[in-house]
Amino acid sequence: MDGSVARRAWTGGPAEIAAAARWLEDVPAEQVLDWAVARFAPRLAFATAFGPEGLVLLHLIASRRLPVDVFTLDTGLFFPETYALWRRLEARYGITVRAVRPHLSLDEQAARHGQALWERDPDRCCQIRKVDPLQESLAGHRAWITAIRRDQTGERSLAAVVEHDLRHGLVKVNPLLGWSSARVWAYLREHEVPTNPLHGAGYPSIGCWPCTSPVSADENPRAGRWRGRGKTECGLHLRDGRRGRGLESEAERS
Ligand code: SF4
Repeated sequence: MDGSVARRAWTGGPAEIAAAARWLEDVPAEQVLDWAVARFAPRLAFATAFGPEGLVLLHLIASRRLPVDVFTLDTGLFFPETYALWRRLEARYGITVRAVRPHLSLDEQAARHGQALWERDPDRCCQIRKVDPLQESLAGHRAWITAIRRDQTGERSLAAVVEHDLRHGLVKVNPLLGWSSARVWAYLREHEVPTNPLHGAGYPSIGCWPCTSPVSADENPRAGRWRGRGKTECGLHLRDGRRGRGLESEAERS
């Protein structure tokens, strides 16, 4: 990494963000996190859903005691295995992963929007249970860290290690952008990080239980998310604030 990255004053302009993205493109994830902490802590957040990539970052943040606000968007619809993993990680690292919950309970959502909204309008359900709570929990922060990888979706292939998040008005830092799934799993094994047992049962990507199904060996790892509903993203990582429906093809055209 260019040593001047850590020394220069940060103004947060588009040119500076683009320059930081270039500098940090091939830098180890630890150094990307160190850069983010130096620039933005304590107004620096990390939202995790306890997926494999998130666990790499959680390990790096928690084991090095980095001053990052770590939280999860608890939709109330995690698998029991995910809730158990959450508690196990807190015990292992001696941390609290802050729970961010929607304004509407599941009963209130059913009363207002009907039962099983995720089956009829998953975009609205994600908006209520993930996107709006994220927006509120990021208020007051200057930057947030995500665990996305470029090869996960067409949308994510467009991301930079450091970018301006237009939707939230923050800097977005993506330390694992160039990592492969194999590298993520090798890291987790090497550091004996607890993982979700559902990964061993055909669930490479795990979200809410109503919208997650197992995948076969020849499918994309995210094929089990919102299967058959034409949706690829919950809306947390969309560029320019667009919704998730049909974005794979849109990203490929542009
Ligand atoms: S993933 Fe499914 S259940 Fe979870 S918030 Fe989105 S639509 Fe609702």
